[in-house]
Amino acid sequence: MTLPPATSIRAVLLDVDGTLVSAGQPIPGAASTLSRLRENGIQIRLLTNIDSRTPETVCRELGAAGIEVPVDAVFTPVVAALRFLEQHPAERCHLLLSAELAARFAAHDAEAGRADYVLVGDCREVGGYVQLDAAFRRLMEGARLLALQRGRWWQAPDGPSLDTGAFVALLEHASGQTARGFGKPSADFFEMALADLGCAAAEVLVVGDDPETDAAGARTVDAPCVLVRTGKFGSRGGAVGEGHPGVAAVIDSIADLPSLLGSGLGTPGL
Ligand SMILES: [Mg+2]
Repeated sequence: MTLPPATSIRAVLLDVDGTLVSAGQPIPGAASTLSRLRENGIQIRLLTNIDSRTPETVCRELGAAGIEVPVDAVFTPVVAALRFLEQHPAERCHLLLSAELAARFAAHDAEAGRADYVLVGDCREVGGYVQLDAAFRRLMEGARLLALQRGRWWQAPDGPSLDTGAFVALLEHASGQTARGFGKPSADFFEMALADLGCAAAEVLVVGDDPETDAAGARTVDAPCVLVRTGKFGSRGGAVGEGHPGVAAVIDSIADLPSLLGSGLGTPGL
């Protein structure tokens, strides 16, 4: 896929971890790139698979790192799952979530009653076998499996770590179900973000560090993707091979996006 002319880009869908921040620290040039995009009338959505915290917390943390965005610009699987559950108000979930998200989903919590769904997110605070087995039993009783996202691993500050998808796969394998996924790379997630922006896929650019979520997700809606080498992708060597056919360009970091888009972006401050 080729890079569209900057003049045709109405919105940029930006990943967060590995793209704008790394281990909670801003990647140099991230804030100025966002400013350049805004000065040129380009809308921004932070399309992130963060499934341990609310969009408000993500927004606050980014602000503390010098990356100021309105909370409505933070688009996560939490937003998508809440919209889904609001459309099914009578249905209840068995929750495998962080404490912060369990509180956010409290209105949809099955507690001791019948569960229509098992909702799986970041499992670092979930516990162990007993909690996973309880969720498995709900599935065997007829609950359907929902996954906030299906990432296999993530780049923790001290090394690669198990991500939500590993636990989703465990429950899929045991129950024989296939989960409905809300985050990247699901086409539903990208389509929801495009609808939010009022843009067609050809009018947006997806920017991220992960071929499996950012690039693969962009491909599901035929949007062009730019990969950065600052995160997960760079840590694995950063070579674009035949497995990444939707990638329009690879840049060292988000700081290089304005120059990649070139003359189509106005000069700073204009
Ligand atoms: Mg990332």
